[in-house]
Amino acid sequence: MAREKLSTKLKNLVYLWTKNKQCYLCDHPSARYLCQYCRAYLELDYCHCTLCSAPTTDNVTRCRHCKTEDHIHRIHCLTPYRGLSKALLLRIKFYQQPHLLRIYAQEFALRLLQSNEEIPTTWYCVPSSSKSLFQRGFQQTNVFAKLLKQELIRHAKDSDLALASLQAIRIHALQQRNKQQQQHHLSRKQRHKRRHTDYKVEAIHASHVVLIDDIITTGSTINACAEALLHAGAQQVDVWALAHTP
Ligand SMILES: [Zn+2]
Ligand SMILES: [Zn+2]
Repeated sequence: MAREKLSTKLKNLVYLWTKNKQCYLCDHPSARYLCQYCRAYLELDYCHCTLCSAPTTDNVTRCRHCKTEDHIHRIHCLTPYRGLSKALLLRIKFYQQPHLLRIYAQEFALRLLQSNEEIPTTWYCVPSSSKSLFQRGFQQTNVFAKLLKQELIRHAKDSDLALASLQAIRIHALQQRNKQQQQHHLSRKQRHKRRHTDYKVEAIHASHVVLIDDIITTGSTINACAEALLHAGAQQVDVWALAHTP
């Protein structure tokens, strides 16, 4: 059977079964999905802007956009969108390989557990446009959120975190109000024009929520989503993303 015709669930199972204790990329023995050698290429400890997580050079703590703009929420981003991380994300988004999201979910979960910060239990996923959803067949932010929850629960026994609070995590999808143009064709200026009315949220009963995105480019999508969440009753929105464009 052609590899492309296998279902995501089946592909995930095959990976878990055949790649047990092996690196997903190089087959080197590894307790994580990526071995220490491959992990180095993900640039998990990249220099970034302290406000928006955009990659910066060594000696700069604020990116050129954050020198003028204020951010209302914390942005926590795993990698810069370049090199290996870019190659993986392109495979996930355009070559139907969502099982590679496990790599990000595991690294993100371990980082969250190590930080000992409170993990909010209400999560919202940034939606894909209906056209890319149709082409791709899955919503990558939603798949990532589900895998992240699984990984948190799996690794929680090694930390002090109560399992019950992780099992209480609820994942919601944000709804787009209007039929939307695909983001990657829009310029920075066009993206900034988009407003929070693009997203529709039911009333929120949690004060602290998480917004999950895949790649942050200009920040306009997450700003619009965060505004919609604040408008619906949230008091604090943390943004978790896989990559930030340099
Ligand atoms: Zn490897
Ligand atoms: Zn910044």
